[in-house]
Amino acid sequence: MPSEAEVTTPPSQSPRFSERVQRALGDLFLRKAVRFTADRLRDARAKAVVEKPDFDTLRSAGRRIRTETIANLDHHLSTFRSNLERAGGTYHTAADREEAARIVVALAQSRGVKLAVKSKSMISEEIHLNAALEAAGIEPLETDLGEWIVQLAKETPSHLILPAIHKSRAQIRALFEAHAGHPLAEDTKTLAGYARRYLRQRFLVADLGLSGCNFGVAESGSVAIFTNEGNGRLVTTLPRIHVVMMGMERIVPTLADLGTMAELLPRSATGQKLTTYLNILTGPRREAEIDGPDELHVIVLDGGRRRLLGDPELREILHCIRCGACLNVCPVYRQIGGHAYGSVYPGPIGAVLAPSLVPDDPSLIPLPEASSLCGACTEACPVQIPLDSLLVRLRHDAVKAGRVPRLQRLGQRMGAWFLAGPRRFGFAGWIGRKLLRRGSKFGPLGAWSQARDLPPAPDRSFRDQWKGGEV
Ligand code: SF4
Repeated sequence: MPSEAEVTTPPSQSPRFSERVQRALGDLFLRKAVRFTADRLRDARAKAVVEKPDFDTLRSAGRRIRTETIANLDHHLSTFRSNLERAGGTYHTAADREEAARIVVALAQSRGVKLAVKSKSMISEEIHLNAALEAAGIEPLETDLGEWIVQLAKETPSHLILPAIHKSRAQIRALFEAHAGHPLAEDTKTLAGYARRYLRQRFLVADLGLSGCNFGVAESGSVAIFTNEGNGRLVTTLPRIHVVMMGMERIVPTLADLGTMAELLPRSATGQKLTTYLNILTGPRREAEIDGPDELHVIVLDGGRRRLLGDPELREILHCIRCGACLNVCPVYRQIGGHAYGSVYPGPIGAVLAPSLVPDDPSLIPLPEASSLCGACTEACPVQIPLDSLLVRLRHDAVKAGRVPRLQRLGQRMGAWFLAGPRRFGFAGWIGRKLLRRGSKFGPLGAWSQARDLPPAPDRSFRDQWKGGEV
């Protein structure tokens, strides 16, 4: 593990992807910390796969469930809605991020809420809910430990399941000391104990609980939440109002399908056989029950997803179950961490999902380039999403739409011209050998070759050597 004394720089807010990447690459602690934890998650997943001999069968079952669900999404959403309402819950739809945030704020304001406790929710990050609540004078408090750390640091999560993957214990202690107003020891027990004591008393006075949703179960109208910390149960049972935010694709048809996902998701995410807490919530508290909210609201967000349903290739990204396995194996994510992507969703899933959901955001257009196309993400994905093919597809789209920089377009045109015939290809080889002989640390190759040593240029081309019978 990297030294605790090393300090990361705050994430770059630059709108330019290349600048964000440069900044991340210059942060040695961040790179070591992300690799260290990603290695642990990747190895734990590999062990869990070996321990389950029929893992491939489980993966295929997961893919079947997701494919069938997305193919009939409106039907499953409608069943979910009927059963949720029958159980006493309220169903809301939000066309976009702003509308989703407005619904939460309006619910909170109309009920006089001052404090909202939150369990981990990527949708709440997607809709920038904390900022919307704060603007309305309502305090949002993250209660997942990692989320609370990044909230105190005024940052966003840098991994789907480990939001504070980039933080050292020394940095966490500094954040907690500033919050507490007195010194704290740097050991994990002290720091976790401080967070527990502070957050516990806030649960007791909060009126609103906000959570995400791993899956909505159509046949029962239930909401299933997988967590490894007890905060999810407190958020969903103590406050008098509970609001669940979910992407419209996060549905499974039956409880049996949920069982398949309960085996597949934790193994892929952390290598656990089962998540520590699996909460299945069906409607608000009933008369004879001693805990649970008086009101349960579920907000179902489109946010660009419905448009993807009409695309036979890109709709596959809606199969994602947000396990994070593709991040842990991605050679790009492992070097730059999550913030450099400039999107709520980092790594290979983010490089496909973010520009697909918001195609007009210029800061997200370069994300599909953040891949070596090695295919490790596709191999790791528990529901077999062909992430590498989707990245290539998005690159094609960007070129077709003229959304790549002029220099890159020129290079691609030159590449196509040189590859169009054997004489041109030979000519390109001749130029390449000349340039290599001058050394690679110049011109456009200068930055690229700073950390790479290219082999010495041969005197004669491979084709000449082949003709001369030398190879
Ligand atoms: S794309 Fe696959 S591997 Fe990546 S987060 Fe989604 S389900 Fe997991």
